[in-house]
Amino acid sequence: KKKIGIITSGGDAPGMNGAVRAVVRGAIAKGCTPYAIYEGYQGLIDGGSMMKEMTWEDVRGWLSEGGTLIGTARCMPFRERWGRLKAAKNMIINGIDALIVCGGDGSLTGADLFRSEWPGLLAELVSTGELAPEQIQGYEHLTIVGLVGSIDNDMSSTDATIGAFSSLSRICQSVDFIDATALSHSRAFVVEVMGRHCGWLALMAGIATGADYIFIPEQPPNSETWGDEMCAIVHAHRKKGKRKTIVIVAEGAIDDQLNPVTAEDVKKLLVDKLGLDTRITTLGHVQRGGSAVAFDRMLSTLQGFDAVDAVLESTPETPSPMIGITENKICRKPLVESVALTKSVATAIKNKDFQKAMALRDTEFEE
Ligand code: ATP
Repeated sequence: KKKIGIITSGGDAPGMNGAVRAVVRGAIAKGCTPYAIYEGYQGLIDGGSMMKEMTWEDVRGWLSEGGTLIGTARCMPFRERWGRLKAAKNMIINGIDALIVCGGDGSLTGADLFRSEWPGLLAELVSTGELAPEQIQGYEHLTIVGLVGSIDNDMSSTDATIGAFSSLSRICQSVDFIDATALSHSRAFVVEVMGRHCGWLALMAGIATGADYIFIPEQPPNSETWGDEMCAIVHAHRKKGKRKTIVIVAEGAIDDQLNPVTAEDVKKLLVDKLGLDTRITTLGHVQRGGSAVAFDRMLSTLQGFDAVDAVLESTPETPSPMIGITENKICRKPLVESVALTKSVATAIKNKDFQKAMALRDTEFEE
């Protein structure tokens, strides 16, 4: 019976529990034994009760639960070789040589590094006497499968990450609440949303709520003129009789000189140039919490089951797959390439090469 470990790592995202549930039940249905690894990679390093065999009933009711019930962590020791040595030892002790990791690009990078080092880690554990040679027999290859769990929707090669649509719904709901009070007092609200260096949440929330103006990292405005341009549009809307103003600012928003565009900057302009009674709302962690929307329940379930199939179909030669969704179809992409593409986009933005960043974002949808 193949033993498969499931880990949630990095920032939590609604739908991670659905992914764990699907992996656990998919594994059991395929005759495998699932293990939950608690607290991200820390659970691998600590071993013992942090690695628990899961039954069908253990994940009952998890589909709609927000966050991750098996915990997550930013685990510094896993970035070090000694940490990965301890992780490898605990896996061998428990007979686990397949891991399904649900996390962001950092977690998936760590997973792939672990796989590439695996034979060397085992050899070192044997040479230092931590493991006996017979203990590693049959465990020469580590299988890694990635599931992308992130509210930011910032991973290349997939149209949606697990959690992004739940977060988007929560943002829209919050802006609807703000709308009511803004309208009553004829106020302006600057709403800052999460997303790190990715503007997907801000852009989609702006469209879905009919915001007056949006700032996202992918389309940095001219540092000299953006204030006047925004105020002209807001003013035009007001002249048409609009009693409320909503400006959405992505947390990673920048201008074309790479200066941050902050909610404070935007507020100051709306007050000074247009005389609007303006408030800032930073949505913060409410964007992460709460139950998963239908799309994330569906996505995590289909992808979790496919991840188990991917484990069973993998060979030492196959590159580690990442389970994605493209044009409504669950698909597998080479994990390393998807992570590299994601990093190239971030680097291009950092280097002010916005055209290259957009071109790279476009290539992710080409077959
Ligand atoms: P999010 O997008 O939500 O922040 P993430 O997976 O990118 O999620 P990180 O904090 O980058 O979040 O990574 C999570 C964990 O993965 C780290 O704490 C660390 O344990 C492991 N990890 C990340 N990068 C590496 C790496 N290069 N080598 C080894 N382990 C890594």
